[in-house]
Amino acid sequence: MKKTIVFLGPPGAGKGTQAEKLKKAYGFVHISTGDILREAVSKGTQLGKIAKKYMDEGKLLPDDLIIGIIEEKLKELPDANIILDGFPRTVGQAEALDKLLEKLGRKLDAVILFDISDQEVIRRLSGRRIDPKTGKVYHIEFNPPPKDVDVIQREDDKEEVIKKRLSVYHSQTSPLIEYYKNQNKLFVVDASKSPEDVYKEITSVLKL
Ligand code: ADP
Ligand code: AMP
Repeated sequence: MKKTIVFLGPPGAGKGTQAEKLKKAYGFVHISTGDILREAVSKGTQLGKIAKKYMDEGKLLPDDLIIGIIEEKLKELPDANIILDGFPRTVGQAEALDKLLEKLGRKLDAVILFDISDQEVIRRLSGRRIDPKTGKVYHIEFNPPPKDVDVIQREDDKEEVIKKRLSVYHSQTSPLIEYYKNQNKLFVVDASKSPEDVYKEITSVLKL
Protein backbone atom coordinates (compact mmCIF):
# COMPACT_ATOMS: atom_id res chain seq x y z
CA MET A 1 0.00 0.00 0.00
CA LYS A 2 1.15 3.54 -0.74
CA LYS A 3 2.55 5.50 2.19
CA THR A 4 0.70 8.45 3.71
CA ILE A 5 2.64 10.55 6.20
CA VAL A 6 1.55 13.65 8.11
CA PHE A 7 4.04 16.34 9.17
CA LEU A 8 2.72 18.03 12.31
CA GLY A 9 4.28 21.00 14.05
CA PRO A 10 4.18 24.76 14.40
CA PRO A 11 4.74 27.06 11.43
CA GLY A 12 8.45 27.44 10.82
CA ALA A 13 9.42 24.11 12.36
CA GLY A 14 11.05 22.98 9.09
CA LYS A 15 8.26 20.76 7.73
CA GLY A 16 8.48 22.07 4.16
CA THR A 17 12.28 21.86 4.19
CA GLN A 18 12.20 18.20 5.20
CA ALA A 19 9.34 17.32 2.85
CA GLU A 20 11.37 18.67 -0.08
CA LYS A 21 14.33 16.48 0.93
CA LEU A 22 12.15 13.37 1.06
CA LYS A 23 10.60 14.30 -2.25
CA LYS A 24 14.03 14.47 -3.89
CA ALA A 25 15.42 11.33 -2.28
CA TYR A 26 12.39 9.02 -2.30
CA GLY A 27 9.85 10.53 -4.70
CA PHE A 28 7.27 11.44 -2.08
CA VAL A 29 4.60 13.84 -3.31
CA HIS A 30 4.66 16.89 -1.04
CA ILE A 31 1.18 18.29 -0.44
CA SER A 32 1.34 21.60 1.42
CA THR A 33 -2.02 23.27 1.98
CA GLY A 34 -0.18 26.56 2.56
CA ASP A 35 1.51 26.28 -0.86
CA ILE A 36 -1.80 25.42 -2.56
CA LEU A 37 -3.46 28.45 -0.97
CA ARG A 38 -0.57 30.81 -1.81
CA GLU A 39 -0.76 29.69 -5.43
CA ALA A 40 -4.50 30.39 -5.47
CA VAL A 41 -3.85 33.84 -3.97
CA SER A 42 -1.22 34.68 -6.57
CA LYS A 43 -3.49 33.54 -9.41
CA GLY A 44 -6.37 35.56 -7.96
CA THR A 45 -8.85 32.65 -8.06
CA GLN A 46 -12.09 32.58 -6.07
CA LEU A 47 -10.37 30.36 -3.47
CA GLY A 48 -7.41 32.74 -3.40
CA LYS A 49 -9.62 35.72 -2.68
CA ILE A 50 -11.20 33.96 0.30
CA ALA A 51 -7.89 32.50 1.53
CA LYS A 52 -6.00 35.80 1.52
CA LYS A 53 -8.15 37.33 4.25
CA TYR A 54 -7.53 34.45 6.64
CA MET A 55 -3.84 34.04 5.79
CA ASP A 56 -2.96 37.70 6.20
CA GLU A 57 -4.39 37.56 9.71
CA GLY A 58 -2.74 34.24 10.57
CA LYS A 59 -6.11 32.54 10.98
CA LEU A 60 -7.11 29.09 9.77
CA LEU A 61 -9.50 28.71 6.84
CA PRO A 62 -12.79 26.90 7.54
CA ASP A 63 -12.36 23.12 7.80
CA ASP A 64 -14.85 22.33 5.00
CA LEU A 65 -12.95 24.37 2.48
CA ILE A 66 -9.57 22.80 3.29
CA ILE A 67 -10.96 19.27 3.48
CA GLY A 68 -12.47 19.72 0.00
CA ILE A 69 -9.07 20.76 -1.38
CA ILE A 70 -7.32 17.77 0.18
CA GLU A 71 -9.99 15.35 -1.03
CA GLU A 72 -9.52 16.55 -4.59
CA LYS A 73 -5.73 16.25 -4.35
CA LEU A 74 -5.74 12.77 -2.85
CA LYS A 75 -8.18 11.52 -5.49
CA GLU A 76 -5.79 12.72 -8.19
CA LEU A 77 -2.89 10.76 -6.66
CA PRO A 78 -3.98 7.16 -6.07
CA ASP A 79 -0.50 5.74 -6.69
CA ALA A 80 1.66 8.27 -4.87
CA ASN A 81 3.51 8.11 -1.57
CA ILE A 82 2.34 11.30 0.09
CA ILE A 83 3.53 13.74 2.73
CA LEU A 84 0.80 16.01 4.07
CA ASP A 85 2.39 19.23 5.33
CA GLY A 86 0.20 21.74 7.15
CA PHE A 87 -2.85 19.48 7.09
CA PRO A 88 -4.62 18.46 9.28
CA ARG A 89 -4.55 21.50 11.58
CA THR A 90 -7.71 20.91 13.64
CA VAL A 91 -9.31 17.83 15.18
CA GLY A 92 -12.18 18.24 12.69
CA GLN A 93 -9.70 18.04 9.80
CA ALA A 94 -8.00 15.00 11.34
CA GLU A 95 -11.32 13.17 11.70
CA ALA A 96 -12.21 14.03 8.11
CA LEU A 97 -8.80 12.77 6.95
CA ASP A 98 -9.31 9.41 8.69
CA LYS A 99 -12.63 8.97 6.87
CA LEU A 100 -11.24 10.14 3.56
CA LEU A 101 -8.25 7.78 3.68
CA GLU A 102 -10.53 4.87 4.46
CA LYS A 103 -12.77 5.77 1.53
CA LEU A 104 -9.74 5.90 -0.78
CA GLY A 105 -8.32 2.60 0.47
CA ARG A 106 -5.31 4.24 2.12
CA LYS A 107 -4.14 4.34 5.70
CA LEU A 108 -2.15 6.86 7.69
CA ASP A 109 1.28 5.31 8.28
CA ALA A 110 2.85 7.86 10.61
CA VAL A 111 2.57 11.35 12.01
CA ILE A 112 5.90 13.09 12.54
CA LEU A 113 5.74 15.76 15.23
CA PHE A 114 8.35 18.50 14.76
CA ASP A 115 9.22 19.40 18.33
CA ILE A 116 10.58 22.95 18.65
CA SER A 117 10.27 25.97 20.97
CA ASP A 118 8.29 29.11 20.15
CA GLN A 119 11.49 31.11 20.45
CA GLU A 120 13.23 29.08 17.74
CA VAL A 121 10.11 29.24 15.53
CA ILE A 122 10.16 33.04 15.74
CA ARG A 123 13.85 33.09 14.69
CA ARG A 124 13.14 30.79 11.76
CA LEU A 125 10.02 32.56 10.53
CA SER A 126 11.35 36.08 10.85
CA GLY A 127 14.44 35.09 8.82
CA ARG A 128 12.59 33.01 6.21
CA ARG A 129 12.82 34.27 2.64
CA ILE A 130 11.35 32.82 -0.56
CA ASP A 131 12.49 32.86 -4.17
CA PRO A 132 9.17 33.82 -5.81
CA LYS A 133 10.27 32.30 -9.14
CA THR A 134 11.03 28.79 -7.88
CA GLY A 135 9.33 28.72 -4.47
CA LYS A 136 12.64 27.69 -2.92
CA VAL A 137 12.86 28.51 0.79
CA TYR A 138 15.90 30.21 2.36
CA HIS A 139 16.85 31.70 5.71
CA ILE A 140 18.86 34.91 5.99
CA GLU A 141 21.09 33.38 8.68
CA PHE A 142 20.84 29.58 8.43
CA ASN A 143 20.56 29.11 4.67
CA PRO A 144 21.25 32.42 2.90
CA PRO A 145 20.06 32.81 -0.69
CA PRO A 146 22.66 33.19 -3.47
CA LYS A 147 23.47 36.83 -4.29
CA ASP A 148 21.77 36.70 -7.71
CA VAL A 149 18.43 35.47 -6.33
CA ASP A 150 15.87 38.16 -5.44
CA VAL A 151 14.00 36.84 -2.43
CA ILE A 152 10.82 38.06 -0.78
CA GLN A 153 9.37 37.78 2.71
CA ARG A 154 5.94 36.19 3.18
CA GLU A 155 3.33 38.68 4.44
CA ASP A 156 2.46 36.32 7.28
CA ASP A 157 6.11 36.03 8.35
CA LYS A 158 5.94 39.54 9.83
CA GLU A 159 6.20 39.66 13.62
CA GLU A 160 2.58 40.38 14.54
CA VAL A 161 1.20 37.63 12.29
CA ILE A 162 3.83 35.13 13.50
CA LYS A 163 2.58 35.60 17.07
CA LYS A 164 -1.02 35.05 15.99
CA ARG A 165 -0.09 31.92 14.00
CA LEU A 166 1.74 30.49 16.99
CA SER A 167 -1.22 31.08 19.26
CA VAL A 168 -3.53 29.46 16.68
CA TYR A 169 -1.15 26.49 16.57
CA HIS A 170 -1.23 26.05 20.34
CA SER A 171 -4.99 26.40 20.66
CA GLN A 172 -6.30 24.67 17.51
CA THR A 173 -3.57 22.34 16.19
CA SER A 174 -1.68 21.05 19.23
CA PRO A 175 -4.69 18.92 20.37
CA LEU A 176 -3.76 16.70 17.40
CA ILE A 177 -0.72 15.51 19.38
CA GLU A 178 -3.05 13.69 21.79
CA TYR A 179 -5.32 12.60 18.93
CA TYR A 180 -2.50 10.80 17.11
CA LYS A 181 -0.86 9.53 20.32
CA ASN A 182 -4.12 7.73 21.00
CA GLN A 183 -3.93 6.16 17.53
CA ASN A 184 -0.29 5.07 18.21
CA LYS A 185 0.79 6.95 15.11
CA LEU A 186 2.84 9.75 16.65
CA PHE A 187 6.65 9.95 16.32
CA VAL A 188 8.47 12.94 17.79
CA VAL A 189 11.61 14.38 16.20
CA ASP A 190 13.83 17.11 17.64
CA ALA A 191 13.25 19.82 15.04
CA SER A 192 15.70 22.24 16.68
CA LYS A 193 18.66 20.32 15.22
CA SER A 194 20.33 20.98 11.86
CA PRO A 195 18.37 20.11 8.69
CA GLU A 196 20.68 17.11 8.13
CA ASP A 197 20.16 15.75 11.66
CA VAL A 198 16.39 16.22 11.51
CA TYR A 199 16.38 14.41 8.17
CA LYS A 200 18.32 11.48 9.68
CA GLU A 201 15.78 11.19 12.52
CA ILE A 202 12.85 11.22 10.10
CA THR A 203 14.30 8.63 7.72
CA SER A 204 15.08 6.41 10.70
CA VAL A 205 11.54 6.74 12.11
CA LEU A 206 10.05 5.99 8.69
CA LYS A 207 12.50 3.10 8.14
CA LEU A 208 13.59 4.48 4.78
P1 ADP B 1 7.54 25.08 7.82
O1 ADP B 1 7.32 24.41 6.49
O2 ADP B 1 7.40 24.13 8.99
O3 ADP B 1 6.72 26.33 8.00
P2 ADP B 1 10.15 25.78 6.70
O4 ADP B 1 10.62 24.46 6.16
O5 ADP B 1 9.66 26.79 5.70
O6 ADP B 1 9.06 25.55 7.86
O7 ADP B 1 11.34 26.40 7.55
C1 ADP B 1 11.21 27.68 8.20
C2 ADP B 1 12.52 28.47 8.08
O8 ADP B 1 13.55 27.84 8.84
C3 ADP B 1 13.07 28.55 6.64
O9 ADP B 1 13.66 29.83 6.48
C4 ADP B 1 14.12 27.42 6.57
O10 ADP B 1 15.16 27.75 5.66
C5 ADP B 1 14.63 27.40 8.01
N1 ADP B 1 14.95 26.03 8.49
C6 ADP B 1 14.30 24.87 8.20
N2 ADP B 1 14.85 23.84 8.86
C7 ADP B 1 15.86 24.36 9.63
C8 ADP B 1 16.80 23.80 10.56
N3 ADP B 1 16.80 22.49 10.86
N4 ADP B 1 17.69 24.64 11.16
C9 ADP B 1 17.67 25.98 10.86
N5 ADP B 1 16.82 26.56 10.00
C10 ADP B 1 15.91 25.78 9.39
P1 AMP C 1 1.56 27.39 6.11
O1 AMP C 1 2.24 27.68 4.82
O2 AMP C 1 1.37 25.93 6.36
O3 AMP C 1 2.21 28.09 7.28
O4 AMP C 1 0.08 28.00 5.98
C1 AMP C 1 -0.13 29.37 5.74
C2 AMP C 1 -1.58 29.75 6.04
O5 AMP C 1 -2.48 29.04 5.19
C3 AMP C 1 -2.08 29.44 7.46
O6 AMP C 1 -1.68 30.44 8.39
C4 AMP C 1 -3.60 29.38 7.23
O7 AMP C 1 -4.14 30.68 7.09
C5 AMP C 1 -3.70 28.69 5.87
N1 AMP C 1 -3.75 27.21 6.00
C6 AMP C 1 -2.80 26.33 5.56
N2 AMP C 1 -3.16 25.08 5.85
C7 AMP C 1 -4.36 25.14 6.49
C8 AMP C 1 -5.24 24.18 7.05
N3 AMP C 1 -4.95 22.87 7.04
N4 AMP C 1 -6.38 24.62 7.62
C9 AMP C 1 -6.70 25.93 7.65
N5 AMP C 1 -5.91 26.89 7.15
C10 AMP C 1 -4.74 26.52 6.57
